[in-house]
Amino acid sequence: MAWRFALMIDPVSDDDTRTDVADTFTAIDPAAPALTVGELSTQRGDGIFESIGVVDGHPQEVEAHLQRLAHSARICDLPAPNLAQWRAAVLFAAEHCGAGESVIKLILSRGVEHGPAPTAWVTAAEASDFTRARTDGIRVVTLDRGYTLDVPARAPWLLLGAKTLSYAVNMAALREARSRGADDAVFITSDGFVLEAPTATLIVRHGDTFLTPAPNAGILHGTTQLSLFEYLQAQGHTAGYSVIAAADLADADAAWLVSSVRLAAPIVAIDDVAVPHDVVLTAEMNRYLLSPRD
Ligand code: PLP
Repeated sequence: MAWRFALMIDPVSDDDTRTDVADTFTAIDPAAPALTVGELSTQRGDGIFESIGVVDGHPQEVEAHLQRLAHSARICDLPAPNLAQWRAAVLFAAEHCGAGESVIKLILSRGVEHGPAPTAWVTAAEASDFTRARTDGIRVVTLDRGYTLDVPARAPWLLLGAKTLSYAVNMAALREARSRGADDAVFITSDGFVLEAPTATLIVRHGDTFLTPAPNAGILHGTTQLSLFEYLQAQGHTAGYSVIAAADLADADAAWLVSSVRLAAPIVAIDDVAVPHDVVLTAEMNRYLLSPRD
């Protein structure tokens, strides 16, 4: 039977320097109700989250996830998370993960309507099996995200670039992709530039150069992409950020969607145009992504 673990956190302020935070954690029954009806994460999706991959009990790239949690909190005007407290919560949850692949989720919500404080919790669960996506690859379609490349800078209230709990649009894009016979989507700005997938970062390879769209275009800075670029650079490849025109996707020598739990899924077709599948390099990437990473 699938296992699950859940921990409520009593968030302390970011300048609290206590070293023992154990008394701010309450392990709860993951199957029992835990939130009140006034909770703004459920009423409005008003909160932020992170999903951390765990391999054989080792949580991957915890610092990068904590930094992104803090970044999302800044964009959303949420109280700054105390990273030492969240780090301790991740390590505590990881102790409940067994062998194989798991996922730890961190959730920081605006809290209860008219209430005094944010609500915070952490869950851990077995990860889905992504072996087929990693080895056989995925077909993607491009979908219009409905705004131009300059909108994130002009309209910060759209919270683009924060990992908010408002993923209904992302899930709708996945359903649209599936209704078109694909496995996943790649968002495109309405002026024709590549953004990201609903739950992953896009990486394209041209010759020996690996590129991903710059995160200042209102997309998430992927922790998996960051880690993979370090690895690729250490192997002697060139890797960097760029403005990528959707029209250039068809020329890619290879492409992947990468994320913390699915890891590197090679793209085998974009809008029904075949993309070369580099089986050996993809296997090498996933071997690296499955190794313990800090
Ligand atoms: N972009 C979006 C919209 C995502 O939801 C995610 C992950 O969930 C990513 C990119 C990839 O981020 P990471 O590699 O940190 O999982």
